[in-house]
Amino acid sequence: MTSTSVRVALRVRPLNNKETLQNCNECLTIIPDAPQILIGTDKSFTFDYVFPSDTEQEEVFQDCVSPLIDKFVEGYNVTILAYGQTGSGKTYSMGTALDGSNISPENQGIVPRAISKLFAVLNKRKEKNPTFDFEVYVSFLELYNEDLIDLLNPPCRENNKKGKSDLMIREDVNSQIYWAGIKEVQVSDPVELLGQLQKGSLCRTVASTDMNMVSSRSHAIFSVILKQTRVENLEENKENDAPPPETSTTSKRKSKQKSLTSKITSKFHFVDLAGSERLKRTNAVGDRAKEGIAING
Ligand code: ADP
Ligand code: MG
Repeated sequence: MTSTSVRVALRVRPLNNKETLQNCNECLTIIPDAPQILIGTDKSFTFDYVFPSDTEQEEVFQDCVSPLIDKFVEGYNVTILAYGQTGSGKTYSMGTALDGSNISPENQGIVPRAISKLFAVLNKRKEKNPTFDFEVYVSFLELYNEDLIDLLNPPCRENNKKGKSDLMIREDVNSQIYWAGIKEVQVSDPVELLGQLQKGSLCRTVASTDMNMVSSRSHAIFSVILKQTRVENLEENKENDAPPPETSTTSKRKSKQKSLTSKITSKFHFVDLAGSERLKRTNAVGDRAKEGIAING
């Protein structure tokens, strides 16, 4: 599965209290030493990663996410999407429910772990190379029905309701979708960055359905924007472009004192999608039912 940059990881959550009380049994069998599951006895599915219900948060992070942080610092754009029905563990795995500080370190999800690794890697790089510099920005968006809401710019939320938002989703000439008018907040350390995530989380639109007492009914996109400045001696190999090893021999003589300043911007998007369940299963009624159609339609 190396021919594509898309990887799919399956994480099975443990039975919750309600399911245990109802004597539910796990209906999945995980094939040992293969990223494969069996539903019932005959339907098998293969993924890039499979995490059984006893998997710790740290293992999910180390296997799937940690290598992506290295790619992100190299200059690649990365997106992680959490997909699944309400109550399946999307927010738990992403670690975006930062409503208090009572989450123990071992239960922290992907986002806080990724952020601390990111700053550790960047600071180490800066220590080694004083000409290296970086800036980190964050943005936090919510897509609720057809509305785009800037969670880090609450006045926009008000404007949004009156239809005066500056936020726009557009399509460029290459049919690439992009958004404009979103606040990007500069942060200097993991605590500040997670503070912004917490601030935005408080603004998120949540409501109750039968399946989860406080289920998120909106898509949330938390983005980390990394702007790096590298001053490279032209005699050195450009580490960023993954060049063939022999390029180091080419421009040696002329460029003794010359240096090249390169600026690289990369984005890491963490997306916590709204529940993927079909409408009839949630017993949602009225506006909530219409909402379900709009969100998953
Ligand atoms: P979703 O965001 O998909 O609606 P949540 O992340 O809110 O689901 O998870 C629902 C509940 O299940 C939460 O109380 C969460 O703490 C718990 N949970 C989810 N996954 C796990 C897991 N792997 N281990 C322990 N508890 C989990
Ligand atoms: Mg959730």
